[in-house]
Amino acid sequence: MFQTLLLGQNQDLTTPLIDEVDTVNEAQEVQIVEPVQEAPAIVSKPVPVQTSIKNLPISPLTDPPDWRILSAFDYQFTQAQLRERLKIICANNEWKRWFIFHNNELHVVTETGPNYATAVLKLKEQHTPSIIGGRRYPYRYWRTTQEIKSLDYNGNVLPPVRVALDPGHLGGRWAEMEFRNFAKPGDANVAEGDLVLMVANKVRHKLEALGAQVYMVRESDEPATPIRPEHLATEVKEYYPKFNIRLDARLQKLYQEQWFYQVAEIRERAELINDIIKPDVTICLHLNAVEWGSDPKNPVLRNQTHAHILLSGAATKSEMAKPDQRLDLLLRALQGIYKEEQKLGTALAKSLEQTTNLKAFTYKSAGKNTLKVAGHPYLWARNLLANRIYTCPVIYYEPYVMNSVTDYPRFQHAIENTYNPDVYTILDEYADAVVDGFIAHYAKSEHLLIPPSIQENVELEDFANEFQPPSL
Ligand SMILES: [Zn+2]
Repeated sequence: MFQTLLLGQNQDLTTPLIDEVDTVNEAQEVQIVEPVQEAPAIVSKPVPVQTSIKNLPISPLTDPPDWRILSAFDYQFTQAQLRERLKIICANNEWKRWFIFHNNELHVVTETGPNYATAVLKLKEQHTPSIIGGRRYPYRYWRTTQEIKSLDYNGNVLPPVRVALDPGHLGGRWAEMEFRNFAKPGDANVAEGDLVLMVANKVRHKLEALGAQVYMVRESDEPATPIRPEHLATEVKEYYPKFNIRLDARLQKLYQEQWFYQVAEIRERAELINDIIKPDVTICLHLNAVEWGSDPKNPVLRNQTHAHILLSGAATKSEMAKPDQRLDLLLRALQGIYKEEQKLGTALAKSLEQTTNLKAFTYKSAGKNTLKVAGHPYLWARNLLANRIYTCPVIYYEPYVMNSVTDYPRFQHAIENTYNPDVYTILDEYADAVVDGFIAHYAKSEHLLIPPSIQENVELEDFANEFQPPSL
């Protein structure tokens, strides 16, 4: 059971995200320059005031958005192209109230009420080369699949793709605070944060051996952020009254804890990812659970297991009303992140299905806070803090059901065999699904003739000498 915040989420996107080196070629399509009209002194008539909408306060623990960043994308898109890109950012048509096309410009509402204001993104005409008046490179640090596949593989199966692994949640003593652990009497504790850290370590070693560059967002069960719940008393106390929510002592404590592990922690990880790691893709590793009751010492086991993979987008009505989230989502569209997530997500979903044979999970909330994404039945869009503020393609795994009748014993088996590398567990299966997906998506075709899982078996079987030893 992954969860989002009860109310908002988010981060500040004012840090430059430029990576000129790898992306110059793509944008250098200077051909015959068509005459471009001088920008008139008054750009356009102001867009009609939207009286029906009202900004909500910005998300917790972030700065107000800096809309000037939009100018980096001036003259890059036609209206039709941009409309296509905006389809995924909101779970319904709510975005149209905030993003208004007017005189070949996109006006994004930044302020409501008496100070009504919009930020303007200039669009290009059908035949205007995109570099005119705009930047020569996309405003991003991550590289597209195409760019990555054109790198030198150095004889490896995978190109030097930069991967950030984000094992979800915290582990150890923090798992209880997060409501992310349970066990039947006498069993080992099933804590999501600890289990996905084990998966991440397995994925890391395998991907590195194949030639990828892998970075972990956390390597222990401890938080990345130095902030603790007790530091957040004032912020929490001041935030909720803005939404007419009255806090008693119990709620105050609950929110301080939630802001610590869900907001401060994710924002710290976002800084690591966006400012230091600058990966081509971030893989968020989670495990699902379904309603297991209120007693972590006697969870209800359910007769169901399934999988899904979340991509970014599908903001709700109230999320669209938060200026910082509007800008974050728009920047993902402008950078082309959604398209890249769908491409990579499809490959990773196929591999996950092939390896686990799990049934696809279906949200009943499509159109409200989720959207079905084409490409594979596992793929859904959902606006989470992590997949909105990690400013690169993010693939958010939600396989298995930890409290299912079938999976719970498999997790017990995995915990029992933590230090026994010869025993293949559900965590190895999870890791293999991720790694095989990377191979399917990034390896050159000669490595795809024999799927790696078959290669491994072959090595153990009679045919061993007929084949080259696999590079795994
Ligand atoms: Zn989770």
